[in-house]
Amino acid sequence: MTEETKAATDFGADVFGGEAIRTYLSKDTAKKLQATIQEGKPLDPSIAGEVAHGIRHWAMDRGATHYTHWFLPMTGSTAEKHDSFLELKDGEPIMQFSGKNLIVGEPDASSFPSGGIRSTFEARGYTAWDPTSPAFIKRHSNGATLCIPTAFCAYTGESLDKKTPLLRSMQALDRSLRRLMKLFGRGEAHTACTLGAEQEYFLVDKEYWKKRPDLVLTGRTLFGAPSAKGQQLEDHYFGTIPDRVLSFMNDVERELWKLGIPAKTRHNEVAPAQFELAPQFEELNLASDHNMLVMDTLRNVAEKHGLKCLLHEKPYAGVNGSGKHNNWSVAYGGRNLLDPGSDPHENAVFLTMLCAVIEAVDKHADLLRASVAGAGNDHRLGANEAPPAVISIYVGDQLAEVLERIENPKSAKHEAKGTLKIGVDTLPAIPKDATDRNRTSPFAFTGNKFEFRAPGSSVCCSGPMTVLNTIVAEAVDRIADELEASKVTGKAKPGEHTAAFHNALQKILEKSLKAHKRVVFNGNGYEADWMVEAAKRGLPNAPDTPSALAALAKAENAALFERYGVMTARELKSRHDIFLEEYAKKVRIEGVCARDIASEMILPAVKAEYAETVASFAQAEKCGIASGTATLKESIVELGSGLDALKDGIKRLDAALAGTECEAVLSAMRALRTTADVLEHHVADAKWPLPKYRDMLFLY
Ligand code: ADP
Ligand code: MG
Repeated sequence: MTEETKAATDFGADVFGGEAIRTYLSKDTAKKLQATIQEGKPLDPSIAGEVAHGIRHWAMDRGATHYTHWFLPMTGSTAEKHDSFLELKDGEPIMQFSGKNLIVGEPDASSFPSGGIRSTFEARGYTAWDPTSPAFIKRHSNGATLCIPTAFCAYTGESLDKKTPLLRSMQALDRSLRRLMKLFGRGEAHTACTLGAEQEYFLVDKEYWKKRPDLVLTGRTLFGAPSAKGQQLEDHYFGTIPDRVLSFMNDVERELWKLGIPAKTRHNEVAPAQFELAPQFEELNLASDHNMLVMDTLRNVAEKHGLKCLLHEKPYAGVNGSGKHNNWSVAYGGRNLLDPGSDPHENAVFLTMLCAVIEAVDKHADLLRASVAGAGNDHRLGANEAPPAVISIYVGDQLAEVLERIENPKSAKHEAKGTLKIGVDTLPAIPKDATDRNRTSPFAFTGNKFEFRAPGSSVCCSGPMTVLNTIVAEAVDRIADELEASKVTGKAKPGEHTAAFHNALQKILEKSLKAHKRVVFNGNGYEADWMVEAAKRGLPNAPDTPSALAALAKAENAALFERYGVMTARELKSRHDIFLEEYAKKVRIEGVCARDIASEMILPAVKAEYAETVASFAQAEKCGIASGTATLKESIVELGSGLDALKDGIKRLDAALAGTECEAVLSAMRALRTTADVLEHHVADAKWPLPKYRDMLFLY
């Protein structure tokens, strides 16, 4: 085995998992801890002391001197406050880490957004270990820190983070599924939501990045004329990965493997300098934490390669933006319920789940849309590349036909093929490659899972996944209600359901499909016709963040989250307020940054070009030179009117920034950019103050 291949055998070396637990804890404690992890229960306080002791030794053996409760505050990134193991006892230094320090922490994190849940005088919050996500080591160039993944709550018990609602939504779906599965005659089992998050990103040379205040401060370019070559030739997608990038990817994967993150697939994406990393799917909570670490790792490793990793949804205008496809499924007792299965009984469960998801997405498209809203994603959703802002479901032609046969069992159209009896007939084979090829659907069934494609590349998966779990829990419950009301359940044993049960189920699904099929759309989501058709079907279309977030302020949505114990009305409102404020702040930062770049960098460059041209022209006139003066004059007019337009644009942006209207700022920024991007072609390359698209987009 070579050094390189050995990296794969280091998988999980920096995670306090199976092997470390067995090595550093007593047999009894190890067993108890494993049970806690598997059942997703809080840690038994009686073993906390020994677990903490074991974890500290394990961490110190890996060079850690500090520990932190690692959590997901509402800012969208991760948070850590480090404490050292060092304590003084009678003046002597000792290394210590108590059970109490493992279970709860009090980061006094009063500066995190709480959306009104806390006021500063009662600002303390506390963090609590979530043992389903294992402790891990985070390394830096001269040391390491033990990280304990935690939930972050206020002393009132209200959640101040993105993890707590996710955990609650997983419990909600578990309760609903247990109920439904019981009706299907399945025994008690563990529900496992699964997530595979495909992560798209851009890489840019750090030297260019440093010279672009817009990239540094906002994560995206606010100016820049298109490069002659962009993604027209479609030659980047799945192309040969440049060596520089490949060695970066290798380092990223090694770091991820050490953290027990199963990075699996890497490839070039559609835009030049755009790439993707896909891990193998894992249980949702862990996968969501892991995605946060993937983003961290991409950023950190890029630095070592003289690169910057851009996780913004739209770093460059005119080429594709970046998303984060959330592949979601749910397994019960180890069996994926979204796998169509091979026998009529499995098919019946699958069809029920399929209908539940369709019902959930149709009823709560507004919430799904809100869950992916943000200033960055606004440039992506509906911008003719990523999925449109209208949420619809793709199921593919085969399944569409199956659903139609369920919905219209007696239609003449299906007579030739006969009716499809749930629980009796086997589904036709659903080939995987028939699933959404054109990738335009925001929510696509892809063989044995749903792929939610609307989330932006920088989003924390917890938000969209919390919504999805909750709305599916509700739909599953509603179907279970009707099944219970039909009073044909209870007798069924696995594999031998009564015809009455299946007839009842058939009617329930028929009714559900009739009510919710409008959300199913198998065509090309980029076509303008679809927007017209979607409007006719009454599907909501929230084109920007403020309109999308309005869903979080609706009383019926607050009631839904409360009913499922996922968020209280106050928790939901706090999120609405935090996200809206974050949006306004981001737009403002961009506005100020654009104004500064325009007035301090672009305007002076244009002025210099103008002055030089005017001087040349005057000189030529003075010397009585006729040739070339017409061209110089033309340039002077172009540059002069550009200069005026630029100044006007800056004034307009300034005026917008004096107000509070986000849209006015965005529109003034767009206008200013148009002017500046034209001027880029009128100023000498050597004088242009910003690295250009053609420089930044090609990493060879
Ligand atoms: P594509 O690029 O065609 O969408 P990939 O294979 O790159 O497909 O990514 C698919 C993702 O879906 C991977 O992360 C994979 O692990 C994940 N996945 C596969 N099965 C499931 C499942 N049952 N639940 C959740 N995610 C899944
Ligand atoms: Mg995908």
